[in-house]
Amino acid sequence: MIGAGPAPVVLAVDVGGTSFKGALIDAAGRTLASDTAPTRGEVGEAVFARLEAFAARLLERAEARPAAVGLISPGMDEATGHVMFAANLGWRGFPLGPRLAARLGMPVATGHDVRTAGLAEARLGAARGVADSVMVMIGTGIAAALVSSGQPIAGARQMAGEIGHAPVYPDGEPCACGQIGCLETYASAAAIARRYRAMGGEGSPGAAEIATRLGRDPVADRVWADAVQALSISLTSVTMLLDPAVIVIGGGLADADVVLLEPLRAALAARLAWREPPPIRRAELGARGALLGAAILAFRRLGLGSIAERWTPSGAV
Ligand SMILES: [Zn+2]
Repeated sequence: MIGAGPAPVVLAVDVGGTSFKGALIDAAGRTLASDTAPTRGEVGEAVFARLEAFAARLLERAEARPAAVGLISPGMDEATGHVMFAANLGWRGFPLGPRLAARLGMPVATGHDVRTAGLAEARLGAARGVADSVMVMIGTGIAAALVSSGQPIAGARQMAGEIGHAPVYPDGEPCACGQIGCLETYASAAAIARRYRAMGGEGSPGAAEIATRLGRDPVADRVWADAVQALSISLTSVTMLLDPAVIVIGGGLADADVVLLEPLRAALAARLAWREPPPIRRAELGARGALLGAAILAFRRLGLGSIAERWTPSGAV
């Protein structure tokens, strides 16, 4: 307990490419209220106005005024709170953190979406109890949180962990980013769906549906095997560079679970000749992870970062 007043509550906000998620989280890591709202395809100032209204609605549900906000967004520069680039939101150099702090009149701690989710998995999820871990988020794109000695690595330009755009095949397929043979071109959920169609697969299924066709659809088998091999090449480099105790797979494609993780474990083990592969686990916190990570950032901003070290996975719900 801090001082004589009640233990503080924070507002956690996760700005995604298509929706906002938010929660009021107390000092024990418990979610007191939560909400989600679509961005409705708005961009620029219009999406900020929607975000303001979304945050205000959640604040109205708080019994006591939250002490701080933890705010995460794609493309976030954690040093300034500005969004460097978020294509779906139409933000480039947008001062999201400072603007929301001014609007709400409370301190705002900002974080990068994937790194913040990785922090939560490291504290409370599939990588709890180890100091060094990597979480790879596989959804529309691919990015990783590199956690070293308990802290996510941001890098000199806040770009650490962009393994989706580290090439795996130097003479491979062009990536939307302008490079050749990026991991994301083969192994993101969007790439799996796109390559299945391009190879003459039946219909226009998403990656989750393609996963259900394995073993009875040769196109599905081939696309899936390509994704697994591309991921195993990247994870071999990750293992050699960082020596993580655990590799966690999160994002939408992790829902494929054993259909993805079992062949991926085998492929990584096959590539590593002289060391044991790190265990590969599915993320445990799902979409909650980003919000819990945002709450951790907010408590840190208040000088109360040690509070979250006492949270337990069962308490933080
Ligand atoms: Zn790329």
